[in-house]
Amino acid sequence: MQKVLIVEDSPTVLKILRHLSSRLKHLEPIFASSLEQAKQLYAEQPTRFFAALADFNLPDAPNGELIDFLLEQKLPTVVLSGSFNEQTQSLLIIKGVVDYVLKEGRYSYELAFDTLNQLYINQNTKVLVAEDSDLARKHICSLLQRHLFKVIEAIDGVEAFELLQQDPDIKLLISDYQMPNMDGYQLVQKVRHEMGQRRISILGLSSADNATVSSKFIKNGANDYLHKPFSIEEFQCRVNHSLHTLALVEKLEKAAYQDYLTAIPNRRYFVEHGRKQHQSAQDKNSQFAVAVLDIDHFKKFNDKYGHEAGDAVLIHFSSLLKAGLSNFLFARTGGEEFSVACAGLSNEQAYQLLDAFRAQVAATEFSYNDTPLSISVSIGVTNQLQEHLESQLNHADELLYNAKSAGRNIVVGD
Ligand code: GH3
Ligand code: MG
Ligand code: MG
Ligand code: MG
Repeated sequence: MQKVLIVEDSPTVLKILRHLSSRLKHLEPIFASSLEQAKQLYAEQPTRFFAALADFNLPDAPNGELIDFLLEQKLPTVVLSGSFNEQTQSLLIIKGVVDYVLKEGRYSYELAFDTLNQLYINQNTKVLVAEDSDLARKHICSLLQRHLFKVIEAIDGVEAFELLQQDPDIKLLISDYQMPNMDGYQLVQKVRHEMGQRRISILGLSSADNATVSSKFIKNGANDYLHKPFSIEEFQCRVNHSLHTLALVEKLEKAAYQDYLTAIPNRRYFVEHGRKQHQSAQDKNSQFAVAVLDIDHFKKFNDKYGHEAGDAVLIHFSSLLKAGLSNFLFARTGGEEFSVACAGLSNEQAYQLLDAFRAQVAATEFSYNDTPLSISVSIGVTNQLQEHLESQLNHADELLYNAKSAGRNIVVGD
């Protein structure tokens, strides 16, 4: 695990920092209380430090000497201080610190740790900078690199669009307005029109004094706009804000398509993707089987061992589904009902796949609170392609009903 060097001389603050450092997600804190001790720790293991959280004033470094030392080592540094005047704040940012935090209480220390966590995440976050001026582009890139982003550069809209097409992982596009070949508006428009589904945040930039530039950028699909020249701090805030909003949208989207209890896909996901597979099978006249799976006598787990045991069974069953049928579209589509879509499988192949899964469910040992529970599943499967996915699912449901009547723990096909 990578380490964060935390330097603070006040025993009270150090105590709070130690307590709150559990907030660090992928980083291990190493504490020091003076410049000398910090230097010593750094000398012992320079490559293992990922970043630093450092007090501005220490008894042996009263004028920010520690910060200068850390920046010389190129260690991303967040500064803590009890008192800052605005001049010192902007000087620190110009010198290259990641951010500064006033020692105003628990909330501000939490913020400092969140900033360190964010730096960790940034290492895997790709940002594309489209700017024709070499000087401006280098400046923006260096600001992003200070926050450890993976930075990609483009010199005009055409190159930027090509890079976006090649790399689906780019999360933020920072685009200048005036560029040769394709300007910022055209680029934003093209991204929004041709990559409508793509989750990407866009920040427009321009030095034009024309007041319509900002609104035009946003009307064309940019999320935010910044006038050049900008303050470093404002730039960092807008970048963080854009990415934060994007992360929230992604989280919401994920939640909307995921079953809350089992964390596997839900009915909404199944229907949306299943309809596409169904349509494509119709278009290509190819095989498409769907199955409905229902846990046998599930109610008895709830009745006998309680609702939590029932939940544990559902989680267990979902993990088997995920391990066994992950090549296919699967979801929890009801209480103890699951569905699978097998594109490309013949009737016989789908039947065999599901029967093997059925046998595996019955054979896998599972215990809840040390009580062994035996589970079985009944399955209806059909590859009679119907006009709509829903009618094919209804047919699979009828076959499932036959499986229940026939004694359960069985697969019934067409
Ligand atoms: P069969 O073999 O005929 O399918 O019988 P069954 O008991 O499995 O089916 P039934 O439809 O009678 O009961 C399903 C039960 O599943 C009823 C409902 O309370 C329970 N259930 C639905 N969702 C959940 C859930 O999220 N957690 C738990 N613990 N129980 C759930
Ligand atoms: Mg330009
Ligand atoms: Mg059931
Ligand atoms: Mg049921």
